[in-house]
Order: sequence, then structure tokens, then C-alpha cells
Amino acid sequence: MRFFELIAGVLSAAIERSAVERALRHSERELSELNESLELRVHQRTAELEETNAELEAFAYSVSHDLRTPLRAMEGFASALAEDYGEQLDDNGRLYIHQIAEAASRMDVLVDDLLAYSRLGRTELRLQPVELQSVVDQVLLQLEPERQERGARIEIAENLPRVLGQRAILQLVFSNLLSNAMKFVAHGVQPEIRLWSESRPDGKVRIWCEDNGIGIDRAHTDGIFDVFARLHGIESYPGTGIGLAIVRRASERLGGGCGVESQPGLGSRFWVELPEARRVGK
Ligand code: ADP
Repeated sequence: MRFFELIAGVLSAAIERSAVERALRHSERELSELNESLELRVHQRTAELEETNAELEAFAYSVSHDLRTPLRAMEGFASALAEDYGEQLDDNGRLYIHQIAEAASRMDVLVDDLLAYSRLGRTELRLQPVELQSVVDQVLLQLEPERQERGARIEIAENLPRVLGQRAILQLVFSNLLSNAMKFVAHGVQPEIRLWSESRPDGKVRIWCEDNGIGIDRAHTDGIFDVFARLHGIESYPGTGIGLAIVRRASERLGGGCGVESQPGLGSRFWVELPEARRVGK
């Protein structure tokens, strides 16, 4: 009797084990199928998103281009009106013409900025070693009239690194940062700006741009990098609200990032992080 009981016990254990093994194999198969279908869905969604993105970029690009033609007409006719009929109009009439021309030229800048932003998203980037010093020198040359007009003092550290990037994109980044630093100061304050770099982990360098401007409330320090984000009226500080969005997109596309430390009334320190290009023998 004990013998049969023993056999029955062994048999039922074996049956149970094989049932467990079968269930396990079944679950494994199910898991692997689930995994495959999940991967496929992620793949499909990524492709869809990429396509939508490309369409949006192309749309922004063509709209920006198409906006140019009526803008040119507005500018042209406003100036023809002023030239040919300006004397027949009173002061108010001439002011209106001036405002039409101003609005058209503001929109022209906006279209330029939008195009630059959209192009940044579409073009394939080939990164090359670029001397930041020469990029910044070029930007300073461009901004010299504005610097003189505002009486700004700009101090650039001597040991700016060599980074991996594209010259034109880096120029966009630093011209936006430096012109903002000159622009967003309290009335009557002489802008004082400092630019320097520091090494970071992972082969990156961080370039700081410090100003003595109006500063930014903590609640807004992330939001200002969004397209069209502006904290002030166009009358007090003109602009399109695209400059910092360009800085963010550019620095991210170059494999880095950006940010700001600031306090209202105490100036701001913007930073851009970029991959460093090592010098030979370094
Ligand atoms: P824009 O300069 O055309 O207004 P940006 O995208 O360059 O647009 O900047 C977005 C907003 O961030 C600005 O309108 C301003 O409110 C704030 N900002 C940018 N730079 C500074 C700065 N250096 N100091 C204080 N505020 C700034």
C-alpha cells in the first residue's frame, strides 16, 4: 500500500511539474509576443511623430516664405506713400504711415526668426570643431552698433574653448544671448556683461553669459525658452520671443542644453552647455 501511495505521489508531482512548465512556457510565449507588438507600436508611433514633425516644419517654412511677399508690398507702398503724398498729409497721416512701416519691419524680423528656428529643426547637423573665441568675435562685430548705442561693457574671458558644433548656429546662440543681455536692463543702467566658460563632466563645457539687467522671476525661468514667450510689452523691450527658443533648440541639437539662474533686479546668468572638441594632444 505504501508503495502505491509513493508511486501516486511521485506521479502527481511529475504531472504538476509538467503543468507548471507548460504554463511557464505559455507565459513566456505570451510575454515575447507582447514585447514584439509593443516594439512594433513604438516604432510605428515614432515614425508617425517624425512625419508630423517634418510636416509641421515644412509648413512653418513655407508659411514664413509666403508671408514675405505681402510684407514687402506693405513696406514698399508705405514708403511710396510717404514719398509721393507725404506733404499732402498732416502729422497724424504721416505717423500712420510710419506705424505701418514699423509694423511691417517688426514682422519681417519675426519671419526671419521663425525661419531660423524652423531651419534649426529640419537641417541635418554635421558637427565640427569650432573655436568659440572666433564665433564670439564675429558676434561682437555684428552687435557693435547696438553696444555703442547702449553704452554696454562686455568682458569676454580669454580661454574660451573649442566646441563641437556649427559656426552659423553658434553665432545665432551667442548673438541672442548677448543682445538680450544688453537689452533687458533697467532704464538708465549701463549694461555690464561677462562671458566665460567652465569644464563640466562628460566632455562638456558650460559657457556663462552674466548681465546686470532686470532679472527674471523664478516662476518664469523655464518658460522663457518657449517660442513666443515674452515677459514684457513690446513698447518697453522690443522683440519677437523666439531668441531663447532658438538658443534652446540649437544647444539641444548640438548635444547640449541651456538654462538660466536669475533673480528679479539682480541680473541673470544664462548658460549654454556644449560638447567640447579636444585639442590634439590634450
Ligand atoms: P525677445 O528677446 O525677442 O523678447 P527671447 O526669446 O530672446 O525673446 O526672450 C524671451 C523673454 O525672456 C524676453 O522677452 C524677456 O522677458 C526674457 N529675457 C531674455 N533674456 C533676458 C535677460 N538677459 N534678462 C532678463 N530677461 C530676459
